[in-house]
Amino acid sequence: MDEKVLLKRFAQRLKKDVPLANLTTAKVGGAARYFLNAVNAAQLAEDVAFLWAEEIPFFILGSGSNILVSDAGVDCVVIHNKANHIHLVEKGDSSYVQAESGAILITAARQAALRGYTGLEWATTIPGTVGGAVYGNAGAYGASMQQHLLLVDILHRGKGCLSLNTEQMGYSYRSSALKREPGMAVILSARLAIKKGDKERIKELINEFSARRKQTQPPGPCIGSTFKNPAGDSAGRIIDSLGLKGTRVGGVQVSPVHANFFVNEGSASARDYYDLIHLVQRIVEEKTGIKLEPEFELIGDWKEQA
Ligand SMILES: Cc1cc2nc3c(=O)[nH]c(=O)nc-3n(C[C@H](O)[C@H](O)[C@H](O)COP(=O)(O)OP(=O)(O)OC[C@H]3O[C@@H](n4cnc5c(N)ncnc54)[C@H](O)[C@@H]3O)c2cc1C
Repeated sequence: MDEKVLLKRFAQRLKKDVPLANLTTAKVGGAARYFLNAVNAAQLAEDVAFLWAEEIPFFILGSGSNILVSDAGVDCVVIHNKANHIHLVEKGDSSYVQAESGAILITAARQAALRGYTGLEWATTIPGTVGGAVYGNAGAYGASMQQHLLLVDILHRGKGCLSLNTEQMGYSYRSSALKREPGMAVILSARLAIKKGDKERIKELINEFSARRKQTQPPGPCIGSTFKNPAGDSAGRIIDSLGLKGTRVGGVQVSPVHANFFVNEGSASARDYYDLIHLVQRIVEEKTGIKLEPEFELIGDWKEQA
């Protein structure tokens, strides 16, 4: 990576050695060697196109709610996606929310609800950006991005600017065609379907989902669900059934409230997370034969941990 090339292109926008922990929900991990904020979709696309052309490695950071950054940090350019423009297009039953990919999903869903549009109530409880949710097919309470995405605008490394529909996104449980081809595309904006609904019913549903979260999920820094649910079962139920709630490594604990949530008690390192995740994974496999698959991504250099 040639720093001169980066400085020439990005000048004052380029920051060095930026700590990432506070830009993630787990609040652990080291620094980004190089760091850029992208404030709108056009800038995000231009930055990515330049880095591809120069073959400089980079990582797109949304809200950091589905990643674990290593203590060693990230030896590439981290682009923090702050492209967050949202607008509602009101066309009866063909209405939609048009959001840049760095918009907060909860904000987009709440804006639709406040204007009396139904469809995105499930999304008012999921942390993260629209881009992160489109990439990973985020979902809750029986709904997911797969059912609500109309179109997504992307920049693809080999194919240029494209608009993809849901089918072309190749969605499956917490995955998409883009996630299966990491680093090959950046999501610029998305169009999410909504339709006119009953304001009171929408409010009720949002309150119900939010109350359910508060009852079943712990507060505190974490990466959300640590493992994907194996077919026909729940990772939390399996971990709980083995008596692993409360298990600790360093500053991370398997939550006593929900066994699939591993909470940073304040002093955790990324290494603590890594070790606890592997400990739980190993015990579950030994006792049940089930190999739990992480729902989050490891980012950065993990060689020392392996
Ligand atoms: C407390 C808590 C509760 C959660 N509950 C749920 C839940 O109910 N359901 C659920 O599905 N998830 C849940 N999650 C996980 C997380 O919120 C989602 O996966 C979310 O969609 C991730 O978005 P993000 O912006 O934080 O992505 P990040 O964590 O920043 O990034 C995740 C991945 O997406 C890629 N990415 C992000 N933006 C772009 C883009 N514009 N273009 C290309 N790639 C991109 C990143 O490069 C990275 O590979 C929860 C997490 C927490 C902490």
